[in-house]
Amino acid sequence: MTRNITCVTCPMGCSITVEINDAGEVVSVSGNTCKRGETYAKNEVTHPARSLATTVRVNGGIYNVVPCKSSEDLPKEKIFDCMKAINEARVDAPVKLGDVLVENICGTGINIVATNHCPAK
Ligand code: SF4
Repeated sequence: MTRNITCVTCPMGCSITVEINDAGEVVSVSGNTCKRGETYAKNEVTHPARSLATTVRVNGGIYNVVPCKSSEDLPKEKIFDCMKAINEARVDAPVKLGDVLVENICGTGINIVATNHCPAK
């Protein structure tokens, strides 16, 4: 089986073809211009992951929400559950840049951290 992937690691956006055997192992990678593309393509077919950037609601802050992101890329299949958990989360002001807003989100071992401040009212 082959999968065609567009590498999003840099703006060149190379089209990469990954050949996978019946056991789901990567047999070959072609079309990548550099080694980073090979790594991206292998991960994409074996352990796809995405960074997540969104906002969390804040109680008692001068803003209603604070921007946040995942401390590492999250498993792609968990993104929907993680978004749901973040939408349900509430944190109390003040929030400082780098504060952990949701710890170990959905059991991934990855934290959701603030990417800006939100002072209290
Ligand atoms: S394969 Fe290399 S050059 Fe091509 S998009 Fe990926 S990182 Fe960029």
